[in-house]
Amino acid sequence: MKIKEIKVKSIIVKSNLPEGDFVINPYIGCQHGCKYCYARFMKRFTGHTEPWGFFVDVKINASDLIPEDTNKYKDKSIVISSVTDPYQPIERKYKLTRKILERLIPLQPHLSLMTKSDLVIRDVDLFKQFKDCLVAFSLSVLDDKTRKEIEPLSSSVDKRINALKNLHKANIPTALFISPIFPEITDWKKIINKTKSFVGEYWFENLNLYSSIKNGIYRFLRENKPELVEKYKKIYSKDSNYWNIEENNINEFCKKNKLNCRIYFHHKTNHVQQPLKN
Ligand code: SF4
Repeated sequence: MKIKEIKVKSIIVKSNLPEGDFVINPYIGCQHGCKYCYARFMKRFTGHTEPWGFFVDVKINASDLIPEDTNKYKDKSIVISSVTDPYQPIERKYKLTRKILERLIPLQPHLSLMTKSDLVIRDVDLFKQFKDCLVAFSLSVLDDKTRKEIEPLSSSVDKRINALKNLHKANIPTALFISPIFPEITDWKKIINKTKSFVGEYWFENLNLYSSIKNGIYRFLRENKPELVEKYKKIYSKDSNYWNIEENNINEFCKKNKLNCRIYFHHKTNHVQQPLKN
């Protein structure tokens, strides 16, 4: 794992995410190394030769760049993060996200954080000092063997579920981003039934087979779920109706169970950028 300390010129960046006016990415690169990560496009801005998941640039001056006294962010929303995980393992050492949060408290933005790591629990004391703060976990599967295959260094399924429970106990609003939904693998109903007593809202996103991840996903299927290879080819063929049906199923289920939900499916347009991803 190549870790490099870098200095940057700005840290709160205007965002085109539907959820955020601004976004903060404390790191470039991500140790979690998810096979489906769309943020791997970031690699081309770094000069790194290591594969995605094997390098992290640490923005060591990140918290110094947050202004001390401004109303600029007061009624604005800030998302942490969009192209990295703010609580990936290296955060344990550098505490960059923690330092950023400390500097954001006086500015009181609407804050949302997205992670796959239970390290987030460390900062509950800080979340409590925001008037509006939401912590979202993303989760794709309940089976930890598959989780390890697709998100090698992320927290285990149990750790994430426990972290959500603890956040809920601490009265921090939570969301669960069921993302990405792997056809025939992600059992989103089961995930909801297991978590609905401590999750405030659900977000859903389908697996997008971008050209940068397509080979990796099919390799994973051939090695772990060979019976699904042909099914995926059909699902991802031009005239497939799979995601329309899945979207309707989710809408109906959420309506029937009175769940707050948002669906970020990208089968109707050619989005390159996904709305919110850690
Ligand atoms: S945790 Fe998020 S940013 Fe990190 S590799 Fe996984 S999808 Fe990408």
